[in-house]
Amino acid sequence: MNNSNRLDPRAPLVLDTRELGRRPGSMREMTLTEPAPADLGIEVLGVAEGSPVELDLRLEAVMEGVLVTGTARATLTGECARCLEPLVDEIDVRFQELFVYEDHASDDEEDEVSTLQDDLVDLEPLLRDAVVLALPFQPLCRDDCPGLCTECGARLADDPDHAHEAAIDPRWAALTELETNDDQSTRSTEQ
Ligand SMILES: [Zn+2]
Ligand SMILES: [Zn+2]
Repeated sequence: MNNSNRLDPRAPLVLDTRELGRRPGSMREMTLTEPAPADLGIEVLGVAEGSPVELDLRLEAVMEGVLVTGTARATLTGECARCLEPLVDEIDVRFQELFVYEDHASDDEEDEVSTLQDDLVDLEPLLRDAVVLALPFQPLCRDDCPGLCTECGARLADDPDHAHEAAIDPRWAALTELETNDDQSTRSTEQ
């Protein structure tokens, strides 16, 4: 295995499970607050890098590895997909993953299952999946956000009676002209 892919035991979301002693049934519970890693979320909504993520974790030794169960709480920041106003929300997600002992995972299994490395577990991919899955596809400041005016870009929630003078769309004007020309040419062939 490539050494450059080894986990860094000092990384904030890497946990040491050695205390469990590989004894099935042994368990450890912990509460910790760690800085959010980069890109925790989607483009329009996510947990700002470095902002606190509160974790409640239970590590449980089982026959094949260590079962990690937990919840994570953090503050989301982003913008409304319709009106682009900044929005702030809280997220509270649950996750669970079995980390298999390296010597228990067969080679072809290693890509599909999470494995322990030197008795370390990496919570980051787990946390990222849980957060991304919990996010709305299109975050909105409120469910019925009316969005922006297509003509001037004003935020319609601030100005619900917003209206513009009905102007003749220049494309329609051009079409009217075309039709007139068409009429004339039809008439001229009939003659
Ligand atoms: Zn909005
Ligand atoms: Zn407008």
